[in-house]
Amino acid sequence: SSPSERFDVVILGGGPAGHACAVEASACGRSVAVIEASELGGTCLNRGCIPTKLFLGATDCVHELAAQAKMRVASGSIAIDLPALQDRKAKMLAGNRQAIEKDLSARGITLLRGRGTVVAPGMVDVVTAEGTVRVEYGDLVVATGSRPTAFPGMTPDGDRVLDSDGILDLSDVPQSMVIVGGGVIGLELGRFFARLGTSITVVEALDRLAPWEDPEVSKTIAQLCKREKWTIHTGKRVASLVSDGGRARLVLESGDEILAEVALVATGRGPVTEGLGLENAGCRLDRRGFVTVDERLRAADHVWAVGDVNGKAMLAHAASHQGAYVARCISGCDTGNYTPGPMPWCIYGAPETMRVGEMPAELEARGLHPRVSRAMLAANPIAQAHASVQGFVKIAWVDGRVHGVTAVGHGVAHLITQATIMVRDGWTAEDARRIIWAHPTLDEALRHALTADTTDA
Ligand code: FAD
Repeated sequence: SSPSERFDVVILGGGPAGHACAVEASACGRSVAVIEASELGGTCLNRGCIPTKLFLGATDCVHELAAQAKMRVASGSIAIDLPALQDRKAKMLAGNRQAIEKDLSARGITLLRGRGTVVAPGMVDVVTAEGTVRVEYGDLVVATGSRPTAFPGMTPDGDRVLDSDGILDLSDVPQSMVIVGGGVIGLELGRFFARLGTSITVVEALDRLAPWEDPEVSKTIAQLCKREKWTIHTGKRVASLVSDGGRARLVLESGDEILAEVALVATGRGPVTEGLGLENAGCRLDRRGFVTVDERLRAADHVWAVGDVNGKAMLAHAASHQGAYVARCISGCDTGNYTPGPMPWCIYGAPETMRVGEMPAELEARGLHPRVSRAMLAANPIAQAHASVQGFVKIAWVDGRVHGVTAVGHGVAHLITQATIMVRDGWTAEDARRIIWAHPTLDEALRHALTADTTDA
């Protein structure tokens, strides 16, 4: 192997966590190397946030035309050309990857393409196309992300049983799809394929869709998905799921069988930690394989773990926020614990949801006595204009201050940043009167919920 090169900061993984960390560390004057085994941009750009939202953006017009059909704007039939959309996706992702590569290079950050493994404290080997390169680090940042996981008996086989990676590459629109898991990935990809005309069946083991959301939100999600003709089985566990004669064959523990052209296994994601040699750097993994970190996201002496791989939030914005924080810790600019504040969370399903802070069930579990207020989207002029009036904004209050905000309905993800500020700053109803809310906007639903009467939770 060639002689080793030394960097102040070596980052394993060029996803949102690694990229943000590299940018911040180089801005703080450190020498930085990013090691990327596959593609820059990570899951988020290549197989996650960005392709899903491109697909959803492309199909929303179809849905809105259908919703506006009473205006007779739609005559005849319209169809999305999936192969053309796949071409657009490929071009868009390649452009974004190039932009990241240029950004790294403009900042003087070294990019090493290959798989990195820790061989000893302070030392990483990178297996590149040209051979193995050894690099030495002052600090190592593990940002290797996550991958889809499946329970035994339903392992994706690349034929009829796919995970989100496989589903995002389909070029033929399946007539039917069974989705295992009524969480964020199942709901988002279900929305996309439903709008292409695929008939959707969801199987969720718990008793409601998006089970971590406020129960009223889960109920509205189920109502609106059923209106779009989804078949929903909650409280049902899968006994087996296999490809069989060109179809996916799913058997429930009850013995009932569901056949579909394809199956999407969307039961969760697990960390990428195998074979990284993290034990050589003194890191510990929890029982699910996530890297254990302290309150400064430190995994061992001079080793940090950020993004999905530490299992804290599994969101791209959380990953990049953690990456930038750790870069400042390494550079001595931040000496405090990691306190990110309220975490914004959205599902771009049919319908969208957003949530930040704590909702009544969580507040009650902490012995508090929350009250709630609501605003229905039916009264909002922008919701009316888009002919999508189902849904609401709901606020959880404790002692007259906002502790949590959630919403469900068309376009509500746009409300998340304002809601995050309201929760972070513990707004009162009076605060709603201290800014001018543009009219007409969906934001006015937040204002109405802020000033509405509260009731018991
Ligand atoms: P990753 O993005 O997974 O990046 C890790 C990188 O490390 C990868 O590029 C990998 O190749 C590289 N790597 C791994 N091992 C090695 C090694 N040994 N050597 C070198 N490189 C290595 N989040 C949101 O906030 N909003 C959304 O709308 C959203 N939608 C999603 C939709 C889907 C379908 C999926 C699957 C995820 C979605 N997410 C979304 C989650 C988001 O993609 C992740 O939270 C985010 O990508 C995590 O960033 P990361 O940098 O921690 O890891």
